Amino acid sequence: MTQSMNRTRSAELYEEALKHIVGGVNSPSRSFKAVGGGAPVFMKQARGAHFWDADGNQYIDYLAAFGPIITGHAHPHITKAITSAAENGVLYGTPTELEIQLAKMLKDAIPSMDKVRFVNSGTEAVMTTIRVARAYTERSKIIKFAGCYHGHSDLVLVAAGSGPSTLGIPDSAGIPPSIAHEVITVPFNDLEALQEALEHWGDDVAAVMVEPIVGNFGMVMPKPGFLEGLCKLARANGSLVIYDEVITAFRFHYGSAQTYPGLLNHEAIQPDLTALGKIIGGGLPIGAYGGRKEIMEQVAPLGPAYQAGTMAGNPASIASGIACLEVLQTEGVYEEMERLAIKLADGLQASAQRHGIPLMINRISGAFSTHFCSHPVTNYEEAQDTDGEAFAAFFRHMLDQGILLAASKYEAWFLTTAHQAADIDQTLAAAEEAFRRMAA
Ligand code: PLP
Repeated sequence: MTQSMNRTRSAELYEEALKHIVGGVNSPSRSFKAVGGGAPVFMKQARGAHFWDADGNQYIDYLAAFGPIITGHAHPHITKAITSAAENGVLYGTPTELEIQLAKMLKDAIPSMDKVRFVNSGTEAVMTTIRVARAYTERSKIIKFAGCYHGHSDLVLVAAGSGPSTLGIPDSAGIPPSIAHEVITVPFNDLEALQEALEHWGDDVAAVMVEPIVGNFGMVMPKPGFLEGLCKLARANGSLVIYDEVITAFRFHYGSAQTYPGLLNHEAIQPDLTALGKIIGGGLPIGAYGGRKEIMEQVAPLGPAYQAGTMAGNPASIASGIACLEVLQTEGVYEEMERLAIKLADGLQASAQRHGIPLMINRISGAFSTHFCSHPVTNYEEAQDTDGEAFAAFFRHMLDQGILLAASKYEAWFLTTAHQAADIDQTLAAAEEAFRRMAA
């Protein structure tokens, strides 16, 4: 197992892609810049928990397309829904009955959303919640938490977690200082810092935005009382609470972080607005936002906050989303993902320990992050203070043995309903070998 896998075709395709596509990739997190550079793997086919690349190599997938592919690739129920949507025409520019069905499914699972609107991406969903919060409060500033990533719209790219951090661009070029001044960033899990910011900016703060369970500097749980305190402080200041649940909704259970059994006191942690994406489209492009009726009624055509989209609510994405949620309603799917995640995370931890390699694993239900360090990771600073070179070495050794992880020390491993015990065994054997090579 010491021989490197042949990925000649991927290397050729990368050379070709570089000539035509900026950086050779259509989203920066897909590049291998953060793990030593070179050609990313060009995938050709995916089924269940497995990928085949352009050279014919097979991989076990823990990327899950950065979260959406929770049922594994090409799930028959979702494929059927997409195929039948395609046969009926993929885009109407009119309302459809299916949109109502998915809106109801979301509302049933996430009761803080009285009204919903579909968009095309998580970025759009978040961006619009901010506009709606500003319209409703007639205030302009947003407080966010360091390391939380909320998509690539101007306001939220300040101190923005996984993708930008990995690439060393915490504040993107092209964002005027006037916009950056509208955002205040405080450390996650730090209520005192939030209180100070609210006291300082007071009536200017339209909303406090947070990933209620973080997925962008590893998987990080809020400390007990953090979300309760956040909601209380924001409301006392007349600011709205926005949850970015683009990763977390339907990831840990059939619902979102605001209804997750691992977080107590649900009544005290309900947001005013929620942004969704990823899983709710079953792998096709989608986003959605929703919240309290009187706030959502700010949105056009009812209210003065404008938001629109030619592709929004397209029948293919909606049908795919409904089918995905139907699969997730199957008895026992989350329990099984968690069971496999525990086996995998525990096995990785034991294996790293055997080879004297410091490793902290933050696991939440069927997802976890691997931090090469000896301290707990509860905020962005602690996540930054981990060994990126060790992660890069681990990533490469795993890749060479057919295990595909996200190419960033900040990203999570995602289990899917398609992973089997044999995949976990194979992954653990690869990890044992990876740690052995790292320790040698
Ligand atoms: N919010 C969170 C928490 C995310 O993790 C992401 C993407 O990773 C986004 C928003 C942006 O979603 P999209 O990539 O669909 O625009």
